[in-house]
Amino acid sequence: MATKADAQELAALRALSAAIGGNPHLTQAAGGNTSLKVGDTLWIKASGTWLKDALTDDIMVPVAMTSLIEAVERRDPAADKPQAFAIDALNPRGLRPSIETTVHALMPQRVVLHVHCVDTISLAVQADCEAEAARRLEGIAWAYVPYRRPGLPLAQGIAERLRPGVDVLILANHGLVVAAETVAEAERLLHRIRSLLARQARAVPKADGAALMALAGQSGYRLPADIEAHAVALDADSCRMAEAGSLYPDHVIFLGQGSVLARPGEHAADVADRLGVSPPSILFPDVGVLMRGDASSGADAMQRCLADVTARIDITARLNYLTAAENDELVNWDAEQYRQKLNAAG
Ligand SMILES: [Zn+2]
Repeated sequence: MATKADAQELAALRALSAAIGGNPHLTQAAGGNTSLKVGDTLWIKASGTWLKDALTDDIMVPVAMTSLIEAVERRDPAADKPQAFAIDALNPRGLRPSIETTVHALMPQRVVLHVHCVDTISLAVQADCEAEAARRLEGIAWAYVPYRRPGLPLAQGIAERLRPGVDVLILANHGLVVAAETVAEAERLLHRIRSLLARQARAVPKADGAALMALAGQSGYRLPADIEAHAVALDADSCRMAEAGSLYPDHVIFLGQGSVLARPGEHAADVADRLGVSPPSILFPDVGVLMRGDASSGADAMQRCLADVTARIDITARLNYLTAAENDELVNWDAEQYRQKLNAAG
């Protein structure tokens, strides 16, 4: 830390990070990340750590920013491995910087918040996102960034859309970035954008816990960690949206491609027999959701996220799904395998 003021900003960022991480409508599991620039050092959340732990655990890693930005500009594949740019002397635990470090480095503002805000994602999966966001964000310096895989491809997509003064990015099929010169301003901007993009979730009836336990039988499947996760199975439109494919990267990473719906009369064991594999979660239309017994806390968080996102999507909108190739590149990606391993361990 260069000065006392810098140390205070980093402390403020950690407090804000913990608050953001504790709100499932803003981040889920190890998703989302925050950063502060101090001179040429970028302090950024470590890969695989959870923002909610920002006050109780050391989750921020220092990165040499100029050399990372130069690598992005050269389109050097090294920029896709931000751990090569971590400042070892200030990183005694050997944490790896977030795979989204390049997103933060490219924004010129000192403080950057990247969140998987469910209001933003629900709009960012709609084919009409850019027009609808333009209507809602009138007067704000924002940019729309088409979907790219997080890491170097996304950083290049942002570089193409970034104009001087832009401090809000809507990342298609992904989330939101806001940036400001201070933590307090960044927090205000985050809440302002979130309220401008907010939409009401469709109401659903209650899940039938007893019926779900009967459907689980001896299969080892269990109820989700959050009761809110059931909503996706209790709304016909949400079910249709979930069944049609994968809407954003962390869904694929924690729950696999798309969602599995039980057919009428099927128990959890029947679904596993039909597929030849036990999926991390099963949606039982009009009944609720079951999670595989060994599903991680990240899988639970993403299952709830799916319910929160789909309940807010305009039911008349055409949706953009990740393509088969985009699904595959997420599943077979070293950096993500590392993040998942940490998540399973934690
Ligand atoms: Zn993200």
